[in-house]
Amino acid sequence: MDTPEVISIGNMLVEVMRVDLDQPLDQPGAFVGPYPSGDTPIYIDTVARLGRRAGFIGSVGNDSFGECLMSRFEADGVDTSCVEVLADYATGVAFVAYFTGGGRKFLYHWRHAAAGQLNPVQVKPEYVGGAKWLHLTGCNLAVCESAREACYRALACFPGSGRVSFDPNIRPEVLSVEEIRAICQPVLDRADVFLPSLGEAALFTGAGSDEEGCRQLAARGKIVVLKMGARGCRIFHRDTDIHVPGFEVVEVDPTGAGDSFCAGFTVAMIEGMDIYKAGRFANAVGALAVTKKGPMEGAPWRDDVIRLLSV
Ligand code: ATP
Ligand code: MG
Repeated sequence: MDTPEVISIGNMLVEVMRVDLDQPLDQPGAFVGPYPSGDTPIYIDTVARLGRRAGFIGSVGNDSFGECLMSRFEADGVDTSCVEVLADYATGVAFVAYFTGGGRKFLYHWRHAAAGQLNPVQVKPEYVGGAKWLHLTGCNLAVCESAREACYRALACFPGSGRVSFDPNIRPEVLSVEEIRAICQPVLDRADVFLPSLGEAALFTGAGSDEEGCRQLAARGKIVVLKMGARGCRIFHRDTDIHVPGFEVVEVDPTGAGDSFCAGFTVAMIEGMDIYKAGRFANAVGALAVTKKGPMEGAPWRDDVIRLLSV
């Protein structure tokens, strides 16, 4: 395959989820899965489904869960030449419980699994150097030092002419706000496109509101895209901002919508759409992503997106 245009790096996990609502994770009960997952894997798989050349840097165990992830990437055309299959580690797993009212609880087997062994040696300068877009997320910076160093190395090897997108995807339960800001700072500084969820823009900037935080970053020249669930997104650039309304769909499973949305925005930017059209395209991708059970199952193909956009 040709060098990927879009590269991402991070946590290759399978997701195993509760069948019924309100089933806590500390008691016996039915699960369904494994589904391929991980925030950056969902992103890159969606990029591939939308028709761009995509490559991923990550690690799985030499087991059936690893096979679940690898076969999905291969089926959708994600280049796996920089994915390591580790004999001595099990593939990472995320267990998820859903609660009435939309709450979710995650239990991760990540840091001590194959996903947590991601390291800078896996990041090949010629691989990253040939790409035009690099996507990074905060949770892969937070999980452990070797994964963080791998992400930093990808950033260091990435050409100055390419564009970097950054989705914080991090909640303060993992680390203190100060620690989160410190480890994300180098990525946020380099990012051309910043894609926070509600609450994250204020957290990252220390501003009194998301709106104010987005404005501060947009004034520094970044394109800031605030994801707002069913309400769509708001895009800030320089001294302007626009609201791009979401599409009406029936939400089956919200997990992964933000990651697929980021993929949609990336593809739209690569294809030269203006920011409003890019927001609409990404909203369509995010909307379709919530219509199927499983974090990556709703990741749409380009034809699905075109169909929704033309309704
Ligand atoms: P997560 O981190 O859980 O994947 P997020 O908080 O990063 O999600 P959301 O704002 O929940 O991201 O969703 C991303 C985008 O997906 C939204 O901006 C919107 O375009 C689309 N989307 C999400 N939920 C819905 C929905 N119920 N109906 C229509 N579009 C949706
Ligand atoms: Mg998110």
